[in-house]
Amino acid sequence: MKTAFNWGSNFGLRVIGKAVVEAEKEKTEVKAAETPKKLRAWKCIVCGEIIISAQRPEICPVCGAPAEAFIEIPYSEIAFSSDSKESILILGNGVAAINAAEAIRLRNKACSIEIVGEEDQLAYNRPMLTKDFFADFKQDEFLLKTESWYRENNINVTLNTKAVELNTTTQVVTLDNNEARHYDRLVIATGSDCFLPPIKGIQHDNVVKIRHLKDVAKIKKLLTTSKRALIIGGGILGLEAAWQMKKAGLEVVVFEMLPALMLRQLDETTSSKLRALTEAKGIEVQTNVKIKEITGEGRLAEGILLEDGRDFHGDLIIISAGIAANTTLAKNAGIVVNRAIAVDAKMETNVKGIFAAGDCAEFEGHDWAIWPQAVDMGKIAGANAVGDNVTYTPIVPAVSIHALDTDLYAIGDCGKNPETNYFSIEMNDAAKPFYAKYFFADNLFVGGVLFYDTHKNIFLIEALSTKMTYPEFLKEEPNR
Ligand SMILES: Cc1cc2nc3c(=O)[nH]c(=O)nc-3n(C[C@H](O)[C@H](O)[C@H](O)COP(=O)(O)OP(=O)(O)OC[C@H]3O[C@@H](n4cnc5c(N)ncnc54)[C@H](O)[C@@H]3O)c2cc1C
Repeated sequence: MKTAFNWGSNFGLRVIGKAVVEAEKEKTEVKAAETPKKLRAWKCIVCGEIIISAQRPEICPVCGAPAEAFIEIPYSEIAFSSDSKESILILGNGVAAINAAEAIRLRNKACSIEIVGEEDQLAYNRPMLTKDFFADFKQDEFLLKTESWYRENNINVTLNTKAVELNTTTQVVTLDNNEARHYDRLVIATGSDCFLPPIKGIQHDNVVKIRHLKDVAKIKKLLTTSKRALIIGGGILGLEAAWQMKKAGLEVVVFEMLPALMLRQLDETTSSKLRALTEAKGIEVQTNVKIKEITGEGRLAEGILLEDGRDFHGDLIIISAGIAANTTLAKNAGIVVNRAIAVDAKMETNVKGIFAAGDCAEFEGHDWAIWPQAVDMGKIAGANAVGDNVTYTPIVPAVSIHALDTDLYAIGDCGKNPETNYFSIEMNDAAKPFYAKYFFADNLFVGGVLFYDTHKNIFLIEALSTKMTYPEFLKEEPNR
C-alpha cells in the first residue's frame, strides 16, 4: 500500500502542490463507515475518484492527493440495477474506459463487457509520463487497475488491437486483426493523441512525442546518444518534458510560436515569471518563433531551422504542440464530430446506444482533455450504457504544471477575454516563494493563478463554483 501511495502521490500531491508524502499519510487507508447511515461521498478534485466514507479521506487511494483535495458531494446509493445479458463493447483502454467499465459492472452483473485497446498494456496513469519520466513504469501501482480487478469483475480485455471500422446499422466493430465484435451498446473512449504539425522533416527517427508508454521507452533509448533536446511547444506538457530532459543532463531549448509561455492559460505577468524561472533552471526559451523545417539528411534529425533563418542543433526533438481527439472511427461511421465527438448530458452520441467519453468527447462544445473530465464522463457513459439515467455535470477546468522544482496552477478565466473588463489583485509573500493573481469581472471571481505554492487551489475551485463576489473572496481567502 505504501508504494501505491508513493506512486499516486507523484501525480496527486504535485497537483495539490505538495512534493513530499508525509509519513503518516503513507500508512493511512481509507476507512469505510461503520454504519450505513453515516456514509458520505467525497470527490477527489485531482483525479475525480469518489470515496464513500464517514470521514473526509486522508489521502486519495488512486492519485495520492491529500485530505484537502476532497470536496463533499451528495451521497446517493446506486438504485439502478439490471440483469440484462447484453454485450457492451468499450473502445479504448484509458481512464475513461475503465470508469465506464466499472460503472457498468456496478449496475449489471450479467452483461458481457469487453475493452479493446490499441496499447499493449492495461490502462495506466498517463499524467505520470511527463511528471515522473524516469520512474519504473513496470510496477503494478502505475496501473489504474490490477489484472485481478478485470478478472474479478469479469471484464475481457483485448490489448494491442485497434478498432478500425464501426457499422452502426449492423452494430459491428471491425478490429485491425480482422476480427469483428457485435455490440448491443458501445462506449467510444479512444482518447486523444499529440497533434503533429505538418513540419518538413517530422518523420525523422529522433523526432518524438509523449503520449503513450512506448513513447517514453523510445525517448529513454534515444537519451543514451543525445546531448541537446529541442522541444517544440511551450505549453504545459512541453515544459514538463523540457524539465525531464534537463534532469537527464541534456541541454534544452523550448520553441513557442506565441509571444510568451502558456499564454492561452496565463496572464502576461505570470507567464513572464514562468519564463524567468525556466531560464534560471538552465532551459533556453525561444518565443514568437515559427519552425520552417526539422533539418537532417539521413535517418536522424540534426536540428531545427526557424523561418527567421536561425538554425538550432539538436539530437532529440520532442513535439508537444497540442492534442487532437481520436475521432476518425466515429466520424467515418456518421457520428457527429466537431472538435471531438459530440455527446449529450448522458454522454450519448447522435446514434442511440453509442456513447463517448473522455478526451475523444465534447459536451456543450467543450473538450477540456483533462483527467478528471475523463473520469466523470466515463462513469456517466457506463451508467447510461447499461440503462441507468444519470447526467453529467461539467467540471471546472483547471491546469497545473509540475516542473522546474515548483508548481503552477491556473483556473477559470485569467484575463483572457478581450471583451471583458477585469480587475485583478496580486499577492506575494516576502518570506517564501509565493505568487498569486486573482481576476474579477462584474464584481465576481472569474479566475486565478497560483505559482510556487498551489495549496489554495481548493479555495479557488470553491470560489469559482460558488460565484464568489469580490468582498466575499477577500473575506474567505485563506491566510490573508
Ligand atoms: C504526458 C501527459 C501528462 C498529462 N498530465 C495531466 C495532468 O497533470 N492533469 C490532467 O488532468 N490531465 C493530464 N493529462 C491528460 C490526461 O492524461 C487525459 O485527459 C486522459 O488520459 C484522457 O483519458 P481517456 O481515457 O479519455 O484517453 P486516453 O488516456 O488517451 O486513452 C485512450 C486509449 O484508447 C486507445 N485507442 C485510441 N484509438 C483506439 C482505437 N481505434 N481502438 C482501440 N483503442 C484505441 C489509445 O491507444 C489509448 O490507450 C496528461 C496527458 C499526458 C499525455
